[in-house]
Amino acid sequence: MRPRVYITRKIPEIGVKILREYCEVVYRDEAPPPTRDELLKMIEDADAIYCTLSEAIDRELIDRAEKLKVIGTMSVGVDHIDVDYATKKGIYVVYTPGVLTETVADHTWALLLAVARRVVEADSIIRRGDWKIPWAPTMMLGYDVYGKVLGIIGLGRIGQAVARRAKGFNMKILYYDVVRMREVEEELGVEYAPLERLLRESDYVSIHVPLTPETRGLIGERELRLMKRTAILVNTSRGPVIDQRALFRALKEGWIAGAGLDVFEKEPIDPDDPLLKLENVVLTPHIGSASHETRSKMAELTATGIIKVLRGERPENLFNPEVMKVRPLSEVKIL
Ligand code: NAD
Repeated sequence: MRPRVYITRKIPEIGVKILREYCEVVYRDEAPPPTRDELLKMIEDADAIYCTLSEAIDRELIDRAEKLKVIGTMSVGVDHIDVDYATKKGIYVVYTPGVLTETVADHTWALLLAVARRVVEADSIIRRGDWKIPWAPTMMLGYDVYGKVLGIIGLGRIGQAVARRAKGFNMKILYYDVVRMREVEEELGVEYAPLERLLRESDYVSIHVPLTPETRGLIGERELRLMKRTAILVNTSRGPVIDQRALFRALKEGWIAGAGLDVFEKEPIDPDDPLLKLENVVLTPHIGSASHETRSKMAELTATGIIKVLRGERPENLFNPEVMKVRPLSEVKIL
């Protein structure tokens, strides 16, 4: 019998094609995420699940999935999955590191530049018919980027890609990370700084840490008050890394100059969230990796990772390699 794979959402065709070649695919060909009840039902007899970050793969769900061998998530963040529990139960978790790095770095820069040069505000002024004077010496002043200080929190794959782009802007780059990376410091010309110093000295702060118990609320009122009043904060990591209420006050009361946000504490953000009323913030709906090319690569990597596990081969995008001690690949091999 062919293994059964449940795909929770509409995904790029390549992912479905790869899985259909080897498996019986239950494909929920729709954009909105499945309801919790649907997810609980569909996972019951699945050998593999192909999910996205909108589906919480928690204990209850994992306990339901008696046949489950592999969870493939079309994301590099795995905070929506109880990975420790999955590992304990011998379930492999594959994800999409690397393939989205450059695309998320591009989007980070799109937000940074949009906030610094007030691109969204300027666009809406024209559309509203409020552009009355052809050229005015003090109209819509923003902040320079070239030659300024960029602080990167989390110098992993995406953080480093953001740093590489900053070199073209001749920026001084500070980074804070739990890991000190001396080789990268040399290669990219970046300087390690404790978080407090980075916040005090940076004109732009960009966050690239995963969401973990340690990074939840990493940037709160205290940290925001350390930043320059002219500083701009960009977050393309995960919403809960920033205390959003404190950020609202910081933006409203001018502790910092602006923010570019792709991620939020609650997604979708409530339409009456006070952040939406502020002009010094640019918001995008969690689209950091949303390019045609990258989403296809993510689908391909997720699907390939699932197939490899079911074949008893170690995929290069395995998030929890320690699972191999709990349940060796030979025991999950059904292809
Ligand atoms: P990565 O693992 O390569 O880099 C993360 C870095 O954060 C590492 O260098 C790690 O040492 C550091 N880090 C971990 N915990 C830390 C802590 N407590 N304090 C300081 N540094 C810490 O991951 P990546 O591929 O660069 O992705 C980073 C994150 O970006 C993902 O986990 C995901 O949540 C987010 N992301 C968002 C989007 C989007 O659409 N907006 C897309 C892709 C990734």
